[in-house]
Amino acid sequence: MTTNVYYHPACLDHDTGPTHPESADRLSALIDRLKEDEFGALNWELAPRAHIAQLLAVHDRRYLDGIKAKIPALGRADFEPSGTVISALSEEAIYRASGAVVAAIDSVIAGKADNAFCAVRPPGHHAKKGNTSGFCFVNNVAVGVRHLQNSRKMERIGVIDFDVHHGNGTQELLEKDPNVFFGSIHQGLIFPNTGKMGQSASGNVVNIPVARRYSGKDFTESLKSRILNLLREFKPEFILLSAGFDAHRADPVGDLALDNEDFAQITRDIISVAKQCCGGRIVSVLEGGYRPSAVAAAGASHVRELMNA
Ligand SMILES: [Zn+2]
Repeated sequence: MTTNVYYHPACLDHDTGPTHPESADRLSALIDRLKEDEFGALNWELAPRAHIAQLLAVHDRRYLDGIKAKIPALGRADFEPSGTVISALSEEAIYRASGAVVAAIDSVIAGKADNAFCAVRPPGHHAKKGNTSGFCFVNNVAVGVRHLQNSRKMERIGVIDFDVHHGNGTQELLEKDPNVFFGSIHQGLIFPNTGKMGQSASGNVVNIPVARRYSGKDFTESLKSRILNLLREFKPEFILLSAGFDAHRADPVGDLALDNEDFAQITRDIISVAKQCCGGRIVSVLEGGYRPSAVAAAGASHVRELMNA
């Protein structure tokens, strides 16, 4: 198996300040871990910039222009009230993060990799068509979905979000598209307070909120039996993952209890569906996870399974 990792140093230059949870340290800790000998078989690729047309398939031009307009010449500025901070070098990070997903998809479709992981920030799953919250700007996974459909003629796309927060932006962007399946398991009653239990009328959106302190075993079992079974029935041609690691027991933001092995189990269960439905085609994209050591350890468990798929 070949697993590609897409990364760009510009993703570290998005400066949120010394006390912000969405720090460059969380990504650099993961990168350092994945550079260790154990991961020597990973194929590293430099993430290209996304083209504006790829972002316009998801977001309003006015919104994208507004991101550019709010970038300060020096230092940092508040982008929106829930704590999303933008800095002088954020634009390059934003375009590299979404460009990583596009390039990762192309590498898997071309057969240059069996699957791929995008080690990028800022995250994306709270970003909507014309606004955002929760440390996100461009919805990297939604950009990937539209690229698959518009440029790679894939029709049925599965998106699984196991970040501790509901992927409200991704759902809002994709829920009206019957050719996209969106399944999210997340902690209930926390930001962004969406993703109530249930399945949409058309069946292509499934949300499983879980209670705080929910065990890792119950989390992985719920994902498998209540979301991945439906994903399998949907028969996706390609699977994208919003891979947040803030459901880890050491995470300071989430309040769940997953350990590194739980993230490995989640990954194996998704790989199993991908092998049955779409030749194992998976592109996984980093979302949240706010204790750098836990992001590194849980991310390593996730990528190890992709390598061994
Ligand atoms: Zn999160």
